[in-house]
Amino acid sequence: MKSEEDQSHVDLRNGILYGTLKQIRIGDDTDPEVPKLLPVWVCSIRPKDSKLLISLLKQNCEDDASIKHLKRLTKIGDYIKAIICPFESEHERTEISNTLGNLQYENLEVINVPRNQANTKETTLKWSTIWPLTWKGNPNHQFLNSVIFDIEQERQMVNELLNRLEKVNNRQASVTMMAKEVNGTITIQCVAVNTGECYPSNHSVMRAIDSIAQRESKQRKQGITERGYLCTDMIVYTTHEPCVMCSMALVHSRILRCTYLKPVSPGGGMESSYFLGDLDGLNWKFQIWRWLGESELSKLDNLIDNARAEY
Ligand SMILES: [Zn+2]
Repeated sequence: MKSEEDQSHVDLRNGILYGTLKQIRIGDDTDPEVPKLLPVWVCSIRPKDSKLLISLLKQNCEDDASIKHLKRLTKIGDYIKAIICPFESEHERTEISNTLGNLQYENLEVINVPRNQANTKETTLKWSTIWPLTWKGNPNHQFLNSVIFDIEQERQMVNELLNRLEKVNNRQASVTMMAKEVNGTITIQCVAVNTGECYPSNHSVMRAIDSIAQRESKQRKQGITERGYLCTDMIVYTTHEPCVMCSMALVHSRILRCTYLKPVSPGGGMESSYFLGDLDGLNWKFQIWRWLGESELSKLDNLIDNARAEY
């Protein structure tokens, strides 16, 4: 089991890495009494056939992240009940029968199991009455301990953002950069500036998305790329917390993560209101971080006024 203790650069209690990046999330660590459920295919086998089943699953079923928190096998009376894979449609029945081949099994059926990992050991035990879950520690602590940043590279990106803002020389301005990481190196893909216009489609985040879209459209015409979503894998650096509209546009664009310097209340769509980007029920989630580095924040304060309700 992974240790719950802080690694030296991780402040688990406050969700801060390197004293510089603060995780922004809804942060409700209270587990509901009744978990959300996930339908999965299961079958019953004799205990002596467990090994064969496990090897069949290894060969034929992808290692699905959505069932990692569940124990694969559980003993019920003289039988073993096993999760085969998440359920998508009844059509999968034939394919699954083929996968199981000569294995002797019974009751190939769909049951509901807890969809998510629980936040506490206590809830894990409670939910395990539905289907046994594994407990590896608080999922967000696991995430914080595992997420990797080259913090000096992040600092360079934030300083680049501030340099661009300085060149604009307008105390109402905001700047957004889209970047991509390849083999550990982050390169800027586009820089978008808002020089103070309040009109929403001129917000710097909207302009950045537009700039990526235009480039994409050009490349598609030349037959170079065919990306599913415009901003998949993009890392967004922006001076101000994006407004609700811009935050939602980032959700639709399926970015990887967003880092901003200045929270904007009440118009911001992340920590200031809906936590868009970390909200269950939308079709995409991404990491949200607020930059806490003092020298960069004081530089930002010297460059801008706090005059606008949203960016
Ligand atoms: Zn906006």
